[in-house]
Amino acid sequence: MAKAKTAYFCQNCGYTSPKWLGKCPSCNQWNSLVEELITKDEPEKGNWRFGSMNEKPKAKPKTIQQITTAEQYRIITDDQEFDRVLGGGLVPGSLILIGGEPGIGKSTLMLQLALSLKDYNVLYISGEESEQQLKMRAQRLKFENERCYILTETSTDSIFKQIEQLEPDVVIVDSIQTMLSPLIESGAGSVSQIKECTAEFMTFAKESDVPVIMIGHITKEGSLAGPKVLEHMVDTVLTFEGDRYMAYRILRTTKNRFGSTSELGIYEMLADGLREVSNPSEILISERTEQISGISIASMMEGNRPLNVEIQSLVSTANYGTPQRTSNGFDNRRLQMLLAVLEKRGGFRLGTQDVFLNVAGGLKVEDPAIDLAVCVAVASSYEDLPVSSAFCFAAEVGLGGEVRAVSRIESRISEAAKLGFKQIFISENNLKGLDKSKFDIKIFSAEKLEQVFMELFG
Ligand SMILES: [Zn+2]
Repeated sequence: MAKAKTAYFCQNCGYTSPKWLGKCPSCNQWNSLVEELITKDEPEKGNWRFGSMNEKPKAKPKTIQQITTAEQYRIITDDQEFDRVLGGGLVPGSLILIGGEPGIGKSTLMLQLALSLKDYNVLYISGEESEQQLKMRAQRLKFENERCYILTETSTDSIFKQIEQLEPDVVIVDSIQTMLSPLIESGAGSVSQIKECTAEFMTFAKESDVPVIMIGHITKEGSLAGPKVLEHMVDTVLTFEGDRYMAYRILRTTKNRFGSTSELGIYEMLADGLREVSNPSEILISERTEQISGISIASMMEGNRPLNVEIQSLVSTANYGTPQRTSNGFDNRRLQMLLAVLEKRGGFRLGTQDVFLNVAGGLKVEDPAIDLAVCVAVASSYEDLPVSSAFCFAAEVGLGGEVRAVSRIESRISEAAKLGFKQIFISENNLKGLDKSKFDIKIFSAEKLEQVFMELFG
């Protein structure tokens, strides 16, 4: 047996240190380093995971001309949204991570995928649920597939033995946090276990050319439970999001070695599984009651991701001396500033009005690009004139009532177009160097707030 060896792992980013440190030098988190026992055995002889590697012929240098570029073969699934998000189907030998909050429907989506792949042997490994639970779920999904195998196991050792016998074409792991490698002594879900198990599945995928899809749970803070390192190890990272109480789910790519990261898939959660929504504009627009004033859609960035969010405002006559200004999810002082701009530059008499502002979905927005949507929502409520639900807004508003340019305008526009919006309002300055014809959405650009109001309210 190998000797026990310990190391300190940052629970936040996966940084490894031989000694304890109060602050992680990689991500600057305090008290995030945790001691974990590692005993990595020498690989056993005959273990296929390591054995086969030695027999592999060594790669030889080739000239660019010698490298053939055959069209990458992909496994096309029954799920068009899933295929699209991946960039056109499953790439053999790829390692895919699908993250999302617990209860959002990742297992349903994956079991549904497993059951729909009728021309392939699929192995669905579950460390989360019992065979009976999976059977019940499969019955609810109303899919029949004789080539979908279920294995309830958490030890990677036993899993790889089963894989060797079954020789599946696709492997699904539910979830990576429940997997246990015998090479590591720490418990399931620890950083070192997650890293090791991922490394084992990666070696398997690369050597066998079998695609592996791993489910990973996301913590409340929104990061993948486990090291950030995990995201670097895999080829593709998908996130499955949406409110668990709402019917719609969005599947996005946050990293993809085999395609673009700007694709997204939309599903509707029904009693018998997830239905692909091929025309998202329908749901986004009908979801909202048409003629309500005080509502506008803002385009914001959350990290690298563009996101469209609903801004709701209510303006009503103040009953008491000092009017109230209350906002949820938006900086109150910024709201005060925008109200002053509306008063001074737009002629809105807000001094005697209570103003309530709410960012739907409980989001907290710091992106100044939602300024314009905030102004529009307030003006819409004040005038009691609704704004079309097919419009969205992406611009900062300055003290002079000027409509200012925002970062990453192209991603915002593409996202709005993809989500089915008909028109986006941006700053004139953002228009420079922008190829309007590239986008499937009407673009309205303005220099001043008045121009936007003229266009909306006449
Ligand atoms: Zn760290």
